[in-house]
Amino acid sequence: MVIGLCKLCREQRGLIDSHLLPKSAYKQLRGRIAGRQSPVILNPLTGTAFSSDAQVTQFLLCKECEDLFSKKGERQLGKLWSTERGFALRDSLHKLKPIASKRHVTAYNANEIADLDSLFYFAISVFWRAEVWGWEGRSNGGALGAKYSEMFRSFLLQKGEITDAYLIVSVNSNSRYDYIMSFPTARKEYGGVLHMFLVPGLRFELLIGKAIHRTLAEVFKMQGRVLINMFEFEKTPMFAQWSIFANCGADIKGKLKIQTAEIRAGREVVK
Ligand SMILES: [Zn+2]
Repeated sequence: MVIGLCKLCREQRGLIDSHLLPKSAYKQLRGRIAGRQSPVILNPLTGTAFSSDAQVTQFLLCKECEDLFSKKGERQLGKLWSTERGFALRDSLHKLKPIASKRHVTAYNANEIADLDSLFYFAISVFWRAEVWGWEGRSNGGALGAKYSEMFRSFLLQKGEITDAYLIVSVNSNSRYDYIMSFPTARKEYGGVLHMFLVPGLRFELLIGKAIHRTLAEVFKMQGRVLINMFEFEKTPMFAQWSIFANCGADIKGKLKIQTAEIRAGREVVK
């Protein structure tokens, strides 16, 4: 067993080989591209994509803290996201009356069908993990900054609250691109810093800032700190570029350079 300082509780303890993105998500991705067993993972930080069973792990947390992450966030998420057998959150949203619809995006008040606190906790746990992760030369740490990093840590330990952070969970309305995952990135957007990652069928975006655009601030004031919307991922510019994977899925060998403006922008970690 590896003994070290747990990054969350900061106690000297036996450490677990923690995942940056949930281990169960890798399982969902296996075999979902025709003719290919291993999942495709996008790493906007390095501008690469890789098809591999290798999972990004690090000795980061003690068992108690890892269990806390699982109990407070990941377990609930595992009941909602896209799997080979179905996509519970999408199915539930289809039964709800939308609260707003603009162009191709539909917004829902999802309080009655999903535990939004768990989704928020899960998102915070991933963004915080990316912040404290040792990136071996590649830097994602620093995107949150010291103040939010400490605020998030305290929240994850259930000792404090988070202010000025708003979560947008987007649900893919078309299963074609459900099988993609991506590591957290950050960029300036909507008057704050927008942090983003993908797990099967879901995109998590966390907008952090004291002076986010007024319209968005008003929406969050009415709806609470978590918004759920649904649209076809395929129709966003980012996914149009990533469709390379759908078209040549079986041909991906090793590392593949992704050359899109969106991803390059995503690599620029801003403070
Ligand atoms: Zn710990």
